[in-house]
Amino acid sequence: MLKKTTVQKLSDLAAGLMEKGALIAPVREEAGHNFREISDPAAVDLDFYNTLLSPKSVFFPHTEDFIRYKTGASIAEAVCVEPDIRPTVLFGVRPCDVKSFEIMDIHFTGTGKVDPYWAKRREAATIFGYAFDPNTPADPADFYSTLGIGAADPEGSDVFMIRKDQDLLLQAVSPKGEKLLSELPSLSDASADDQKYFDGTVAAGRTFKTRFTCVEAEPIAKKFEDLFHNAAFWEKVSEACLSCGACTFVCPTCYCFDICDETLFSQGTRRRVWDSCMFTDFTLEASGHNPRTKVYQRLRQKISHKYSYHIRKYGPISCVGCGRCTRNCPVNIDIFSIVNEAMKA
Ligand code: SF4
Ligand code: SF4
Repeated sequence: MLKKTTVQKLSDLAAGLMEKGALIAPVREEAGHNFREISDPAAVDLDFYNTLLSPKSVFFPHTEDFIRYKTGASIAEAVCVEPDIRPTVLFGVRPCDVKSFEIMDIHFTGTGKVDPYWAKRREAATIFGYAFDPNTPADPADFYSTLGIGAADPEGSDVFMIRKDQDLLLQAVSPKGEKLLSELPSLSDASADDQKYFDGTVAAGRTFKTRFTCVEAEPIAKKFEDLFHNAAFWEKVSEACLSCGACTFVCPTCYCFDICDETLFSQGTRRRVWDSCMFTDFTLEASGHNPRTKVYQRLRQKISHKYSYHIRKYGPISCVGCGRCTRNCPVNIDIFSIVNEAMKA
């Protein structure tokens, strides 16, 4: 089913989606676009390249309270915090970010232990993917085509959207997406020409090139294993790193978190908060020992996790080439260049 609307009528579409649940979509902010819950349908803005932050926080919030308790009281009196699970439409997600959900599913639902918070939010969400324009050069930091992701891959979305000048074409990809599209009165049926354009764009997206290098999972995993003890290599590539953690917070496939207890007077809260392997005390043990005191050890961990350990343990590379870590690093450390350097070492 291919439907269409126009960019001018985007707010009508947004208003229709808001009747189905919470709508989370890109909005323009001072520093750039980000996904936010929409209260004004006119705020949805599809004139963006990609969002500053990845959409992972929709399923894995930066901070999430699990348990509330009173200090000194019996544990039996502790209360579980019910997660805020609502039908949600996540609108305007680029194909590389859609792919990241599949990688994150491995950790939150695919290893035997299911994280109910992630799983229920994923289940409650309908994802509207949104193609990059294959006629416009990619951002210089991007390298998603290196990882086999097309600029207009519909896989993983429930509905996939392609811009055709001032028109917006919407194709149902999953039964969930098909049902939702059929319930939106602001959409009209697309023409045969529109279908041809849609299919042509998906195909063009598969040959579209971002920065590109030949990376195969098995050889790159072995390469980083061989480089593990090469301190000179890691010291060189991490020389400028500030251990600020920005690269991990913006990354759609970084999922480290900490569980903290916060007490104020006699009220306690146990919560999950994002953490980062780039932080100095990430591996600080209760004894005071820290196995990763050096910056190079932490950068080695971050990159080897994505391009080696993850492959060995789960199969895929844990990176979708979205370029956010490079765009947001204050000292221009670029994971793509490090992978390239590693292959030459
Ligand atoms: S490591 Fe960088 S390029 Fe890869 S998914 Fe994370 S932010 Fe994107
Ligand atoms: S964003 Fe750059 S400086 Fe900050 S921790 Fe990551 S690599 Fe280091």
